[in-house]
Parts: sequence; C-alpha cells; structure tokens
Amino acid sequence: MATAVATDVMIPQPYVVRAVSKETPDTFTLKLAPEGGSNGSQFQPGQFSMLWVFGVGELPISISGDPSEREQLVYTVRSVGQATNALVTRAVGESVGVRGPFGTGWPLQAARGRDVIVVAGGIGLAPLRPVIYEVLNHRKDYGRLVVLYGARSPRELLYRKELAAWARQRDTQVLVTVDYGGMSWRGHVGVVTTLFKYARLKPSRSTAMICGPEIMMRFVTRELESNGLSRGDVYLSMERNMKCAVGFCGHCQYGPHFICKDGPVFPYGQLRPLLEKYEL
Ligand SMILES: Cc1cc2nc3c(=O)[nH]c(=O)nc-3n(C[C@H](O)[C@H](O)[C@H](O)COP(=O)(O)OP(=O)(O)OC[C@H]3O[C@@H](n4cnc5c(N)ncnc54)[C@H](O)[C@@H]3O)c2cc1C
Repeated sequence: MATAVATDVMIPQPYVVRAVSKETPDTFTLKLAPEGGSNGSQFQPGQFSMLWVFGVGELPISISGDPSEREQLVYTVRSVGQATNALVTRAVGESVGVRGPFGTGWPLQAARGRDVIVVAGGIGLAPLRPVIYEVLNHRKDYGRLVVLYGARSPRELLYRKELAAWARQRDTQVLVTVDYGGMSWRGHVGVVTTLFKYARLKPSRSTAMICGPEIMMRFVTRELESNGLSRGDVYLSMERNMKCAVGFCGHCQYGPHFICKDGPVFPYGQLRPLLEKYEL
C-alpha cells in the first residue's frame, strides 16, 4: 500500500537571499527571508531545511542562526559540489526555495538546569551554533557552557569573532584546536579530543551535544564516557544523503532509522551499536 505524504511539506516556499558572508575559503553563511515578508521562520536548534536552488537541485542544510530571530533563516554552507556551490554563489536578492524545518532538535529542554557541553568538528559547529545562542539567550536556565571545537587549520575555523565573544561570557569555556597550526597559530594543536584535559566538566550534571565527522564522533563519545558522562546524556547529529526529508524515499536510512525524521539528532545510546559498524 502506498504511503501518503502531505504535499505541502514537499513544496518549497520562496525565500530571498538577504546577505552572504564568507566564513572560510569554501564556506559561506547565507541569511534568507521569506519572500513577501511573512514571519514563519520558527525552528528548533538542530533542525534542518531542504534548500532548493532552482534549476540545480535540492539539499539538506542545518539551520545555523539564532532561534530568537524569527524574521530570517541562517545557513552555513561548505561548497563541496554542484548544489552547495550554486547555493554559496547566490547573490543578494536572488531566490532560494525552502522546505522544512525538518527533523529532531537538540535536547535543550532536558538540558535545563544542567551544564551543556558542545563538541564540534569543522562544519559541525553550524548545527550547534543555535544551541550556543539558546543557552546564552537564557543564561539562568542552564549551568556552565563548555564549547570544544576542532578544525583542520586556523583558516577553516568558523565564526572566529563569535568564538572569541562567547569565551568572554560568564560561566562559559570555549576551547579551540586545529590539526595543523602553521607559523602564526598560538592556540592548541591536535584533534578535538585533546581538549578534554583542559575542559572543566561536571559529568554527572552535564548534557553533551556532538556534531562532526563520524570518526570524530566515535572518539568523542568514548572520551565523554571515560570522563564519566552517562550514555543517556550524550546526543549526536548524523548526516546522510537524503531527498524527501520526510521518511518517504528511504535514501537516508541508517539501520532501522531514517536520519531525516528520526534524526538528525539522536541519543547516543540509540546509535551506539550502529556507530561501531564503520561502513553503514
Ligand atoms: C541533515 C543534514 C544537515 C546538513 N547540514 C549541512 C550544513 O549545515 N552545511 C553544509 O555545508 N552541509 C550540510 N549538509 C551536507 C550537504 O547536504 C551536502 O554537502 C550537500 O548535499 C552536497 O551536495 P552537492 O550537490 O553540493 O555535492 P555533491 O556533488 O552531491 O557531492 C559532493 C561530495 O560531497 C559528498 N556528499 C554529498 N552529500 C553528502 C552528505 N549528505 N553527507 C556526506 N557527504 C556528502 C559526495 O559524496 C561528494 O563527495 C547536511 C546534510 C544533512 C543530511
């Protein structure tokens, strides 16, 4: 029997590019506003949209902006192929189709009253940036905020000014590392797990949220467990190619899960058996 899919979630809504800014040589942040100026841009941190570049294709991109800013949707996109390149080269005033938001968000409700540990690798900081905004916007509702961020090199670090600004906030620790520093880098060098020895963690009262390459997430989850965090307090965001974003086409199936509708944010305990299988 055919499964019914609500057609409205399959129809892209017209948005217009309001601003494009360069983060790194291949990564850009785009601000999109609904054409006609409606204010329907609510999302949960961790959710993604399907962005349609007319005549090129449609692709999933996480929402990377401040959830309290309803008048626009913000995306940070690394140009890796045809659709992402078409997206990052949109000019201000051009149109982009938007479907969504889709998927599960980070467990910010469950994290209230607790310390929040954000661990990101590369472009993985984009889907976690709304978590940082949310915690800083509601400072009294959360304990300490610890951000551990790794990139390949200093020129590939996203949001450099914001990282410095977040580090100045009260009850906030921001640690950054790069794989290769070069002559002028004065910060940490090494993979993101090397930052744990500098992080001031209280494992029993912390919720951890991780996004990055799968190999990085495997090592980070092990490090968090060895630091005493329970599996139930660790969440990660997964990425797979997808088409429909509503659990219909099956492109993003991961074991028994569809990344688009059961994820992209999953509790670690749910994914652990699958994460140990490297080619899934
Ligand atoms: C839920 C979700 C959220 C995402 N959020 C972001 C984001 O915030 N910013 C961002 O830059 N990208 C994000 N991506 C990845 C982005 O969707 C892909 O990079 C994009 O679809 C590539 O399309 P393309 O036509 O430019 O490249 P293609 O020509 O399709 O591919 C170029 C290269 O990238 C690889 N690739 C393509 N798609 C994926 C994928 N989904 N996962 C891993 N490798 C892939 C291909 O194998 C190929 O090597 C997200 C993906 C998902 C599933």
